Amino acid sequence: MDGIPDLAAVEAMDAADLLRPFRDRFVMPDGVIYLDGNSLGPASPTVLAELEKAARQEWGEGLIRSWNTAGWFDMPVVLGDRIGRLVGAAAGQTVVADTTSINIYKALHAAMGLRPGRSVIVAEGGSFPTDLYMAEGVASTRPGAVLRLEGVDAPAIEELIDGSVAVVLINHVNYKTGELRDMAALTRRAHDAGALVVWDLCHSAGALPVDLDGAHADFAVGCTYKYLNGGPGSPAFIYVAHRHQAEARQPLSGWWGHARPFAFEQGFAADAGIRRFQCGTQPMLSLRALKGALDIWDEVDMAAMRLKSIALADLFIKLVEAKCDGFGLTLETPREGARRGSQVSFGHEHAYEIMQALIARGVIGDFRAPSTLRFGFTPLYLSYGDVWSAVEILQDILRTGAWKDARFAVRAAVT
Ligand SMILES: *Cc1c(COP(=O)(O)O)cnc(C)c1O
Repeated sequence: MDGIPDLAAVEAMDAADLLRPFRDRFVMPDGVIYLDGNSLGPASPTVLAELEKAARQEWGEGLIRSWNTAGWFDMPVVLGDRIGRLVGAAAGQTVVADTTSINIYKALHAAMGLRPGRSVIVAEGGSFPTDLYMAEGVASTRPGAVLRLEGVDAPAIEELIDGSVAVVLINHVNYKTGELRDMAALTRRAHDAGALVVWDLCHSAGALPVDLDGAHADFAVGCTYKYLNGGPGSPAFIYVAHRHQAEARQPLSGWWGHARPFAFEQGFAADAGIRRFQCGTQPMLSLRALKGALDIWDEVDMAAMRLKSIALADLFIKLVEAKCDGFGLTLETPREGARRGSQVSFGHEHAYEIMQALIARGVIGDFRAPSTLRFGFTPLYLSYGDVWSAVEILQDILRTGAWKDARFAVRAAVT
């Protein structure tokens, strides 16, 4: 794309878009341009139908029998394998369970157990905070454990990886800047030093093609309520490479991780495979919603999705820089499409108020403290025309100073 595209050029991009039919698969309120599918994916008729069926038939009619007859008990591993297909994991290595925070705890703990004699956890100072909070929690249970942070203890993560490091916890795509890490290269770097890696895929699962097996990843975790559209609070997933499963011990040794949960034996004996990374009973209605969301993902060509994701974000950056020049916005995301995930962030001193004004006009993105406006680009339900309209509204808010209205400065609990 040379120069600044006009509306006719944007409409031509939509006319040529092969992913356009997916837009009808999602529920989207009138008047909303949704640029926050990276925080909470939208509902879809497919998911709502699964929820209805799960609640009325499987729970309502089937009652306790549904654990067997509706496949409830195996749902975490069945759906885990389906997510595995989206993140490059062969079957038997991924299970849906618990939350990302809890899975980080399990994975870090297991990784440290596989590297006895090593005491260091490496992570990013700019990580999503819960990852660091959980790393602190794991370190607090292991005498002598130390947390080393990129951006605090050294500028680049590679410099922190040496023979004392047990595990590196790293976000594939940074939640705030959208920067994409090179999974294969960083995994190799850690392995060369004898360390293991836990990849956090919260902002890459469903956002771009991922190849865990190809990168020889050890562990991975991720959300299902963001790009995967599983619904608010839908359970997370955890990946453990086959080669580690027999040895890897996670600390939350609940009955769902037992080799024979219904033998009701006294001592804990871990399941031989990925099920050992479960803990207890899972939220079945949420899992059934996730199943519906994955039905849609089965039809998606990930390579085509990635191309459109980059094109949507490129268009957004180009239009914002052309039309909102001089209003104090600074790009915080890598300009090069290949180096970012599926989001674009702009810094602004009044990012909170501007985002509130955008939301009031139907352009829903989000704010990340202290000064970031974050916009997610989800190719299945966004058009190039949406990007055009969103920038027109942003320009209007900046030009008129509409964001200065006092009501936009009121802070809500969730941003
Ligand atoms: C969204 C997100 C989480 C969320 O964790 P929960 O346990 O689901 O609340 C964790 N890590 C990263 C990197 C995220 O983006």
